[in-house]
Amino acid sequence: RAKETGKPYMIFDRRMHKEILEVISLEAELRDALSNDELVLHYQPIVNVDTRALEGFEALVRWNHPLKGIVPPDKFIPLAEETGIILPLGRWVIVEACRQLGKWQKTIPGAERLSVSVNVSCRQFVRDGLVEYVAQVLEETGIDPARLKLEITESVLMQDTSHSIHELNRLKALGVRIAVDDFGTGYSSLSYLRQLPIDHLKIDRSFISGSDNAEDNIQIVKSIISLARNLGLTVIAEGVEHEDQFARLQDVRCDKAQGYMFSRPVDSIAAERYILDYQRR
Ligand code: C2E
Ligand code: CA
Ligand code: CA
Ligand code: CA
Repeated sequence: RAKETGKPYMIFDRRMHKEILEVISLEAELRDALSNDELVLHYQPIVNVDTRALEGFEALVRWNHPLKGIVPPDKFIPLAEETGIILPLGRWVIVEACRQLGKWQKTIPGAERLSVSVNVSCRQFVRDGLVEYVAQVLEETGIDPARLKLEITESVLMQDTSHSIHELNRLKALGVRIAVDDFGTGYSSLSYLRQLPIDHLKIDRSFISGSDNAEDNIQIVKSIISLARNLGLTVIAEGVEHEDQFARLQDVRCDKAQGYMFSRPVDSIAAERYILDYQRR
C-alpha cells in the first residue's frame, strides 16, 4: 500500500514498538539473571554407540525466569551474544560445568571417566581471554583437562581460520578436547579442517533426525565419518531420537550418540540419577 500512496513505510508500528520494549526489558532481566542465580545447567547424556556406555554429558544452559519459567537458550543466547552478556554468562557455564563434573567424580565411584562438553559462543572464542579463563577453572576445580570438551561451531571456526588455529593450539596445550559443533551445516574447507587441532566432529542433528530425505542424510553421515577417520577424529551424532536412527549409526560405525532416545537434557539431580542407574545396569 505504501507504494501506491507514495507514503513511506511506518517503521515503528505499535507491534514493533512493543517488541522492542520487550527486548529491552529482556536484556535488563538477563543482565540480572546471573547475579540472581536464575541460570541453570541441564545435562544431556552422550553414549558410546558400540557399547551404549555413558561417556559424559553436554551442559546446556537454561534461564529459570521468575515469571516466564524455564526459557530455552534459543530465546536468550542470541541476545546475550549481541549485548556482550554472553561473556560473563559463558564463563559461568564453564566454571559451573567443571565444578559439577568435579563433584560427580569425587562422590560417585567410576565417574572419573565421565566428561563434560561445554558450548563456546562466537564472542567468547574470538576475544575473551578464553584460554586464561579455562586454565584458571581447571586449576580451581582440579578436573582432568582431558575430561573437558569445548564445542565450537563449524561456522565460528571457519570465520578466521588463522585465529582459530592459534587459539585452538593454546587450548589444546591445556589438555582440553575440542569438538566442532553443528558439523555439516557450514562450509568447511578441507584444507583448513586438516590444520585445526581438533578431536571430534559433532554431526548436526538435521542429518540425524531431520525431515529431509533419510537416504541422502545417511550418505552425508557416512562421508563425514570417513572424513573423520582420515583426519583421526571421532564422530558424535546428536539428535538421535529413535532406535532405527541409532541402528543406522551402528551400521556406519559412528562413535558416539546423543539425543532424546537416551535422555532429554535434565537437571543435575536427574543427571546424577542417570549416572547411578547406568552403573547399576
Ligand atoms: P547445540 O549445541 O547444537 O545443542 C543441541 C540442542 O539439541 C540442544 O537444544 C538439545 O536439547 C537439542 N537436542 C538434543 N537431543 C535432541 C533430539 O533428540 N531431538 C531434538 N529435536 N533436539 C535435541 P537446547 O538445549 O535448546 O540448545 C540450543 C542451542 O543453544 C545449542 O545448540 C547451543 O547452540 C545453544 N546453547 C545451549 N547452551 C549453551 C551455552 O551454555 N552456551 C552457549 N554459547 N550456547 C548454548
Ligand atoms: Ca553443542
Ligand atoms: Ca550441535
Ligand atoms: Ca545447533
